[in-house]
Amino acid sequence: MSRINFYSGADIDRAGPLRRDSGYVEQQLASSRARVLPVWRDKNFVQLGNDDSETPQVAWLSIEAAAALVDGPPSFLLLGEKDGIPYFTIDMSHLDEPAPDMAHGAFMGLRDVGGTMEQSDGALLSYAKGLIHWHERHPFCARCGSPSDARDAGHVRVCVSPDCGTSHFPRTDPAVIMLVHKEDRCVLAHNRRNPLPMFSTLAGFVEPGESLEEAVAREVQEEVGIQIGRVRYHSSQPWPFPGNIMLGFHAEAESTEIVVEEAELVEARWFERDEIANATQTGLKLSRSESISRRLIDDWVTGSV
Ligand SMILES: [Zn+2]
Repeated sequence: MSRINFYSGADIDRAGPLRRDSGYVEQQLASSRARVLPVWRDKNFVQLGNDDSETPQVAWLSIEAAAALVDGPPSFLLLGEKDGIPYFTIDMSHLDEPAPDMAHGAFMGLRDVGGTMEQSDGALLSYAKGLIHWHERHPFCARCGSPSDARDAGHVRVCVSPDCGTSHFPRTDPAVIMLVHKEDRCVLAHNRRNPLPMFSTLAGFVEPGESLEEAVAREVQEEVGIQIGRVRYHSSQPWPFPGNIMLGFHAEAESTEIVVEEAELVEARWFERDEIANATQTGLKLSRSESISRRLIDDWVTGSV
């Protein structure tokens, strides 16, 4: 694949082996060059351009500025480093509203701004958002219910109970997403979660004890009643809304009759390749440009898969 998907491609060394070294982490926290990418109630800190032509960028705070805004000892989570500059994130959701010394940036929903950013910036914000979301949802040990503490610069939570001590690692939930096609037609659907009449690929979560290929076949059968033959992997995309990894496939249909799962879909139907190629002219709304759904569609339309 020559093109990587949006929300991946953070130009940063995650410093995985070094996170467990508290001396290294302390050294990074003491660096005057350190940058903190705060998250506030699921929103990222972004610097908007002065006019519409400027690309939004990652906005950041110094360690001191960020520490001054939080109650109690700050919990900085290490994202990694680049060119000697450490990158951290921190949850600022306790603030009623962003403080005055954060006026050089604004908290924005990543969906509203992410697709217009440079690839690495979008990926960094996605990484920070995903990590903060996991901490926010997992303050207690899932095994015994005791509180858990962040360790390894925020890349593990350890149960505080001496009888338990279980380690819990940041999770990302796998979902398959697939373009179902047969000859010069493909299946797209309008999902009930989307208020706009937008057509996208089918998708669903992988279940325990199931291969990715089996998940593709099951989801397609459940949602549109079509039998699937050959399945080909395409690419993947981190999807921090709130914590998924999308695994993209092209799936050849072996049947054509559509039976719509009405609880989930408003409509699903076959589209001709030309109909999709001319979507801009006809006003047909397809998946967002930064989504893997759109890439699965576009690559099939241009025959580049
Ligand atoms: Zn426990």
